[in-house]
Order: sequence, then structure tokens, then C-alpha cells
Amino acid sequence: GADAAGAQQMLHRRVLLMGSRFDLTVVAANDIAGNAYLDMAIGEIARIERLISSWDPNSQTSAINANAGIAPVRVDRELMELIERSIALSELTDGAFDISYASMDNIWKFDGSMVRMPAPEVVKKSVEKVGYKKIILDTKKQTVFLSQKGMKIGFGAIGKGYAADKAKELLMANGAVAGIINASGDMNTWGKQPDGSDWMVAITNPMNKNKAFAELPLRQGAVVTSGDYERFVEFDKVRYAHIINPQTGYPATGIISVTVFAPSAELADALATSVFVMGKEVGIDRIDQLPQVACIIIDDQGAVHKSKHIRINEK
Ligand code: ADP
Ligand code: MG
Ligand code: MG
Repeated sequence: GADAAGAQQMLHRRVLLMGSRFDLTVVAANDIAGNAYLDMAIGEIARIERLISSWDPNSQTSAINANAGIAPVRVDRELMELIERSIALSELTDGAFDISYASMDNIWKFDGSMVRMPAPEVVKKSVEKVGYKKIILDTKKQTVFLSQKGMKIGFGAIGKGYAADKAKELLMANGAVAGIINASGDMNTWGKQPDGSDWMVAITNPMNKNKAFAELPLRQGAVVTSGDYERFVEFDKVRYAHIINPQTGYPATGIISVTVFAPSAELADALATSVFVMGKEVGIDRIDQLPQVACIIIDDQGAVHKSKHIRINEK
């Protein structure tokens, strides 16, 4: 029948969601089933985008931001839990990861529109609004309150990973035997290719985007690359990543690419961003303390640094 191992189809689709390219791959018994799975994944990612986007004025996240310093906002349990996990990640990374970095969005622009460094007083004033400890949760009332006026949260460093996890979960629960969810380099896989071989994952070479730095089989779990080669600014020959150090209000420097392997794309996504902020020494030290987590860092000199548990062959 159609479900014999040899008759499986592999289907792909590319869509633009969350301001990013998603490449979806699914293995199914036939085209109809495969397309249904792809539609299901796209629906799930679009649903999450409507809930968590800080760009969409109608999202619950935008309602939280609009009410900063004014009033708590009641949100869906799902958003509440994402914020709870985000705060736990802030604690885990000593504040390197912080969804309240977002009040800095007005100061630092990485779309080419910024021609000079912002004035130090401006950065200082804005960074005063950053701080995950000022995100007040009431789990009973299911409300979120940003306790300072002008505060803002954004899920740019974790949302794609979360969406990739949720899409994978949904497809697995509906019987999809194998697939890849790739959110512009935040990816997770499950199952195997139709021919029985493992999925192969290529890690981009930050020195040359069109060349893979390494290729490796990914059995279960996620791999996420956070790189500054797509979005950064340069002043006085210093390269500033689109990742903000929440303590200083200045963008991270010194690293051009971080790849994190972890059981979930959400965790890998958040940690990749965090390592950028923590720097290579502290970053690797932190990663080494976490079970089933590994990372590869490429610094601004092009040197490669690997965490303890990494087994990978560079190309
Ligand atoms: P990518 O955009 O390539 O997925 P990241 O996952 O590292 O890269 O996310 C970077 C984005 O996260 C930034 O564009 C910004 O929206 C947000 N961000 C920046 N600094 C921080 C931070 N310290 N903690 C949490 N989110 C951040
Ligand atoms: Mg990230
Ligand atoms: Mg990311």
C-alpha cells in the first residue's frame, strides 16, 4: 500500500513568516498527505506569529507593550508560559538573554538606516528600561505587567525557535513520520529521510555565506545559528551585531557566529543569542554546564571555538 516504506514522498515548501524564511520539509505517504502537513505547519507558525509578534499592533504582545507602566494585561496561557520560560532563560544566562532588550529597538537599527553611533546619554536613558526583573507576572490572573513606562518586550531571539518546535510537535502528533523545520537557520528535525538515512544539516560559513562550514547528521533535536553576517552595523571598524547586551545597551561585539545544539530549537535559539552577549569564554563555560547542549563559536578573527561535547568535522 501507499504506506510501504519505499513509497514515501518528501515534500518541501518555502514561506515567509515572522519576517523570516521558513523552509519546511515533510515525509508522507503521498502528496495529498504531505501538503496537508505543510499547510498545518504553516498555520501553526502563522498562529504563533499573531500571538507573539511585537510588530503586529493587534497581538497580545503589543497590548502588553502598549500598557507598559500603565496596567497588567491578560494574555493566553501560551504567551504567559513563553514569557515565564524567557525569564527563566534570563536567570540561566545572568541576564544575557532578556526579552525586555526591546526598548533598545528605537536606538539601534540594523536595517542600514543608522549612520552614526547613538549618543551615550541616549543609550543610557534607554537601557534603564531594560530588565527582566521588571516584568511582573500574575499566574493566577494570567496577566503580564511591564512595570516601567517605555518598557517593551520582543521575542526576536526565541520566537522562531519556539515556532519551529511547535510546528514539529504538531506534525508529529498528527502522524508525520519525518521532517525538517528550518526557520532561517533555526532548525529541528525528526525521523529519517525516505531512504533511511539521517537528515544532514549544513552550518553556514560566516566568512562565506554560500559555503557550508560543516555538515553533520541530525537525529533528534535542534541546531540554531545566530550570526551577525546578515544584520550588523560597523562604526570605526568595529562590527556591532544585532544582539544587544542588556546590561550596557550596546550591541555585542567579538563574535560573528554562534551555533548551538540543544534538545529544542527554543532553547538553542535563546542560548545562541546569549552566547553572543556573554562572549566566547563565559559562553562556552555556560554551555558546558548544560546537559545535551553544545556550541561552536566563530569569533571576529575567524577562529573557531568549540564546547566540550561537540563532535563535528569541519569542511
Ligand atoms: P536571528 O535574528 O538571526 O534569529 P537571534 O536569534 O540571535 O538572531 O535574535 C536576535 C534578535 O533578538 C534581535 O534582532 C532582537 O530582536 C532580539 N534581541 C537582541 N538582543 C537580545 C537579547 N540580549 N536578549 C533577547 N533578545 C534579543
Ligand atoms: Mg536566538
Ligand atoms: Mg534566532
